[in-house]
Amino acid sequence: MEEILIVEDERDIREILSFNLERAGYRTVEASTAEEGLEKLTQSTSLILLDVMLPGMSGFEMASTIREADSHVPIIFLTARSSEEDVLNGFKSGGDDYIAKPFSRAELLARVKAVLKRTSPPMPTKYECGPLVIDIESSTATLDGKVILFSRKEFDILAFLIRNQGSYFSRSDLIRELWVDAPYVIDRTIDVHIAHIRTKLGPYKDLLVSRNGFGYTLIPG
Ligand code: CA
Repeated sequence: MEEILIVEDERDIREILSFNLERAGYRTVEASTAEEGLEKLTQSTSLILLDVMLPGMSGFEMASTIREADSHVPIIFLTARSSEEDVLNGFKSGGDDYIAKPFSRAELLARVKAVLKRTSPPMPTKYECGPLVIDIESSTATLDGKVILFSRKEFDILAFLIRNQGSYFSRSDLIRELWVDAPYVIDRTIDVHIAHIRTKLGPYKDLLVSRNGFGYTLIPG
């Protein structure tokens, strides 16, 4: 889950930001000053929403400090002032985008999403597990070089497991990750998909391991 650090001295705004971002599926960390923000900035911070006018160190100063420390964490400035000069200062000090207050929830989420997309390193598209190769981009799976046709959901399950190789996922983990829009899916559905996947893996069916009490994982044979 992507973690967003919110640096904003006005509590109401901070709470609204946090509420909306958490509802949209992000984890948030709050700071009321730039100094506190710098302390709470970690490797797991995916993005900073940074107010410009803060008591003590300003948002622009905090951004410069972060860039001087050679961090490329994306920064979106929040400001009540929307003059051209502020925008230019914001980008000079290392900001990736700019939101003028007051802003709508839709605008906030759209900008956060766009900046995260633009700045996140491209995900690899090909994954291997022994003879099984999954290419996410082209939605193809090959086994020993031969194309195997998996249904959409079978493919999604395999792609998820191969991306997280070595970790176990229970049926409910898989439902939560892969059936976001259909929470009524039952465990039995997963069992059926898993059985189909095993059949299609044929002699390599043991790549897909099921461990009692842990769940499913892919292990190269
Ligand atoms: Ca402020």
